[in-house]
Amino acid sequence: MQLETITSISTPNGEGAIGIVRLSGIDALAIADVLYRGKKQLAEVDSHTINYGHIVDPTTDEVIEEVMVAVMRAPRTYTREDIVEINCHGGIHTINRVLQLTLNHGARLAEPGEFTKRAFLNGRIDLSQAESVMDFIRAKTTQASKVAAGQMQGRLKSYIEDLRQRILNILAQVEVNIDYPEYDDVEEATTAFLLDEAKKVLVDIDDLLKDASQGRILREGLPTAIVGKPNVGKSSLLNYLVQDNKAIVTEIAGTTRDILEEYVNVGGIPLKLIDTAGIRDTDDIVEKIGVERSRAAIGSAALILYVMNYNDTLSTDDIEILESLARDDRQVIIVLNKTDLEQNMDLEALQSYGMPIVETSILHEAGLKQLEDEIAQLFFSGTVENADSTYVSNNRHIHLLEQSRSAIGDAIRSAEMDVPIDIVQIDLVKTWELLGEVIGEDVSEQLIDQLFSQFCLGK
Ligand code: GDP
Ligand code: ZN
Repeated sequence: MQLETITSISTPNGEGAIGIVRLSGIDALAIADVLYRGKKQLAEVDSHTINYGHIVDPTTDEVIEEVMVAVMRAPRTYTREDIVEINCHGGIHTINRVLQLTLNHGARLAEPGEFTKRAFLNGRIDLSQAESVMDFIRAKTTQASKVAAGQMQGRLKSYIEDLRQRILNILAQVEVNIDYPEYDDVEEATTAFLLDEAKKVLVDIDDLLKDASQGRILREGLPTAIVGKPNVGKSSLLNYLVQDNKAIVTEIAGTTRDILEEYVNVGGIPLKLIDTAGIRDTDDIVEKIGVERSRAAIGSAALILYVMNYNDTLSTDDIEILESLARDDRQVIIVLNKTDLEQNMDLEALQSYGMPIVETSILHEAGLKQLEDEIAQLFFSGTVENADSTYVSNNRHIHLLEQSRSAIGDAIRSAEMDVPIDIVQIDLVKTWELLGEVIGEDVSEQLIDQLFSQFCLGK
């Protein structure tokens, strides 16, 4: 029985400068030769040699990568089959494309442990050796999958599985088109379907990324500045937030003694309050340095609670600060305090800045619940309660989602420009793979391949 030729990336996925696509099987050389341009065909080079050349997409003649290709003929190889290792250096995108080309030209993606399985099947190692390798791999990957799965909550996982299924549906349609290229109307229908579906997937990935940025907030705290003129109630607001919310996460001294960060839990959102030293100080630094100081505090904040006095008229300082706040994309909530006093503030003028206004009387603890709601509204569309069970909070996942978004974006752009459908296909497959990595689908393979390369080197 002749086994199919298998392929996989045999270096750990990620930042590594060099990545290896490894083929093993009866057609390894033939498949590689379809893609390889060098001095000689690989079928003609000596065994156990490294050969310089280029990987080219034979359907477009596009040069994908400059490579060194190791050729090892059976039986003196790890699997006892012909092995070709394509050494790439162009980063994960290129490596994926090379892998994709080997898949497009007759190889099948190796299953976890399959190289070792072959070594065993072909008598290269005995069962106990194979088993110990497999056990090790399995232990590692279970743990890794658990780690990965621990980050992922059920909803996200099924969400991504759904996205992947939809991409597979598009790919199936594309496959039909590639099989029947002579029918123009099939191609048109395929492109229309592809664009339609791919755009929906893109929108959903965008949604996930929105969730992701919320996850980051939950993890790192939302940098928040309490700003305003002297005497409007900043210290009172801070004290209220700190006292009322017993769940202060931590209180850390900053790099300078002046800067103090405090974390308070407001409606489930950890606010990282910036530069509270200035507000806490009885001499009130804000009072001394005024607008300049306020500007500095605003600098690193994502949320600004701009406190004003209901009893005051709108001053030129206020107008200056509000106008500059309105110009940038930070979230601002105007806390119009001291509503227990007589109104002198021009509400209509204030509303003209288009920022949410919450009226409070901190002295009487009024309006503070509304303030919490407003904060939650701004950042979580009011749904912060279920946050822990829904959000992506891992930078690696966020990064993968961003890559997925750009890959499917590429597919859409290509389809719109009538690029040949098998090119579009590559980006769709890539999107599918990247999404798979998010839910840990690929983790085992990476680990195994890493293990294999160690195992190979060690022998
Ligand atoms: P800051 O200078 O902006 O930090 O303002 P403070 O928090 O130190 O408050 C200045 C004064 O306003 C204090 O005497 C507070 O008790 C008082 N104050 C704060 N909030 C209110 C409020 O809602 N109503 C009234 N009437 N007074 C308030
Ligand atoms: Zn103060």
